[in-house]
Amino acid sequence: MSEAFNVAKIFGEDVFNDKVMRERLPKKVYKELKKTIDEGTPLDLSVADVVAEAMKNWAVEKGATHYTHIFQPLTGVTAEKHDSFITAPKEDGSILMELSGKELIQGEPDASSFPSGGLRATFMARGYTAWDCTSPAYVRKDAAGAILCIPTAFCSYTGEALDKKTPLLRSMQAINEQSLRLLRLFGNTTSKKVTPSVGPEQEYFLVDKKKYLQRKDLIFTGRTLFGAMPPKGQEMDDHYFGTIRQRIAAYMKDVNEQLWKLGVTAKTQHNEVAPAQHELAPIYSEANVAVDQNQLVMKILKKTACEHGLHCLLHEKPFDGVNGSGKHNNWSITTDDGINLLDPGKTPHENIQFLLVLTCILKAVDEHADLLREAAADVGNDHRLGANEAPPAIISIFLGDQLDDVVAQLISTGSATHSITGDKLDTGVKTLPVFSKDATDRNRTSPFAFTGNKFEFRMVGSKDSIASPNIVLNTIVAEAFCEACDELEKAEDFEQCAHDLIKKYATEHQRIVFNGNGYSDEWVAEAERRGLPNLKSMVDAIPALVTEKTVSMFEKFHVYSKVELEARVEIQYEAYAKAINIEAKTMIDVASKQIIPAVIGYTKNLADTINAVTAAGAKATVQVGLLNQTSDLLEKTEAALGKLTELTAEAATIEDIEKQARFFHDSIVPAMAALRAPVDKLEMIVDKEAWPMPSYGDLLFEV
Ligand code: ADP
Ligand code: MG
Repeated sequence: MSEAFNVAKIFGEDVFNDKVMRERLPKKVYKELKKTIDEGTPLDLSVADVVAEAMKNWAVEKGATHYTHIFQPLTGVTAEKHDSFITAPKEDGSILMELSGKELIQGEPDASSFPSGGLRATFMARGYTAWDCTSPAYVRKDAAGAILCIPTAFCSYTGEALDKKTPLLRSMQAINEQSLRLLRLFGNTTSKKVTPSVGPEQEYFLVDKKKYLQRKDLIFTGRTLFGAMPPKGQEMDDHYFGTIRQRIAAYMKDVNEQLWKLGVTAKTQHNEVAPAQHELAPIYSEANVAVDQNQLVMKILKKTACEHGLHCLLHEKPFDGVNGSGKHNNWSITTDDGINLLDPGKTPHENIQFLLVLTCILKAVDEHADLLREAAADVGNDHRLGANEAPPAIISIFLGDQLDDVVAQLISTGSATHSITGDKLDTGVKTLPVFSKDATDRNRTSPFAFTGNKFEFRMVGSKDSIASPNIVLNTIVAEAFCEACDELEKAEDFEQCAHDLIKKYATEHQRIVFNGNGYSDEWVAEAERRGLPNLKSMVDAIPALVTEKTVSMFEKFHVYSKVELEARVEIQYEAYAKAINIEAKTMIDVASKQIIPAVIGYTKNLADTINAVTAAGAKATVQVGLLNQTSDLLEKTEAALGKLTELTAEAATIEDIEKQARFFHDSIVPAMAALRAPVDKLEMIVDKEAWPMPSYGDLLFEV
């Protein structure tokens, strides 16, 4: 048994957090830095020098030799370049360990190879990283030693955002401003800052490392491209919340300890629905911290798996036939003095503010459903969304019975015919009931569910950054708040105006509310009747980034410029095309070099057996039957392989990136499915010993 573990003692020990800053920085410098962190005032270089020196000393004491500006380029994963603290040798040959204020607040990685969607010509590789001091620096320890990681934003020479962090910070400013405006109108004079709070629940699979290494599809694409279902899948529901196996438990313990040291509040862990699938959730935090920490969580999950002889699959759909993985992005809006704008509250007055916030969100999500869908678009997520397991690709909002009833009342009083008494019309909203947090049942099929005092956006893919969904949520809600504030500010009767807006928004956007089964075919038909977008794939979703309404909204709130959005469109198409191309090529490789030879070997054995059996004067009907069946499937495999090879070559000739992505979606994806089908059948026939890779059963049940 290891000795008792003191979580409180180790929590955040590798983070340059507020406590460390207070201890190590001169009072005046600390105050200046705090002001920058809390109020966004620019940081003076002389202050930065002092902070950098203190940060470096602290990191060096922790064994750090290098520092890195850690950033999130548009590939979605984090990027870093390490620089050691050493200075040029002095005359006597000795060196110093240094970090200047300038090095802390700004870096210039040679970033020519990151996708920029044309924002930065490759010959002008300049990209700058700028310290995001609202997300704490930390020392990460791994095989490369200890490294001081400085969270940064990444911009081009001309100031365009080349990353996901910059627009996220901009969107946080937008929602801060508009929420404060709204709060002031409702008489709040004390709150100084409003921040979106985010708690991402992370799903992942663990497989045995040795078996993983025997599967080229997993190595190259993160998912299985072939594989017949084992006799047992997830139908027994015995894995969900089941006892965690010892090997996995040891892994989770290790992951938690590392995360706690890095100041990540790893809180919940459990087995998920699919065999070998698990989940980790931290306690929610400010959106930009949550985004950074989720990247860190994914990194630690992967790295630790390696150390435990495991491999962590973050792909959205590693296995066909069992559930895929997602990320539930829990989102709310909180003031610096602890008021959650999504908390229904207890008094009628609070209810009015809450109901306005709620109906603004209905409006925002309805008006920008396509954009929110796009924010969760990811190549791997195409297997999940709408595939009868995860939320459908159609955006709708689940309110639960209680709120749904409230909204229904609002709509009916709003339609103000004579039959509604004046009394009810005037006080309509005020007389609504006090909500209780858990009055509502859960609905697992909704992509956007109200869960007590937060919304849970469940569409996000497991390996994707949560930056995009939060950028969209923050901005669309900021826009709705802004429009409401515009009305309220010019209203003569504030209360009446608030009531009218609530009714108006609830009525006009009621089509987005759906409390039923999101997996059902009826819902697809119903959603179509309601005119809700059903963007089934990533390529269908991408154009939402550059519609007129999207561009004007993002420009209005200074979150993205049109150019930045156009760049993202290009990058998204490119990402799609590249990913499918790799999958197709991997399939071709595995089928031609591993599967077909294995099957040929098997047919040879069968043929030899048949000859021997017949020579011995016995009947070999079963063997002959098997041989015919196998040969038949082998023929189909060969034909499908030829077709896929041909189409992949054709795809490479298409120059227009959008057309190419479409071609991959419309032609290559079905050709891949056509190759997989006979191969999966062959796997069920061919001798297990002869099959060239571990099966689903081996991967899912023998971890
Ligand atoms: P549920 O079981 O309803 O999904 P949990 O309490 O397990 O809810 O929380 C799931 C995630 O939501 C956690 O990361 C949690 O910290 C986060 N969360 C809880 N409350 C909020 C909130 N007000 N805003 C944002 N995230 C929240
Ligand atoms: Mg949840």
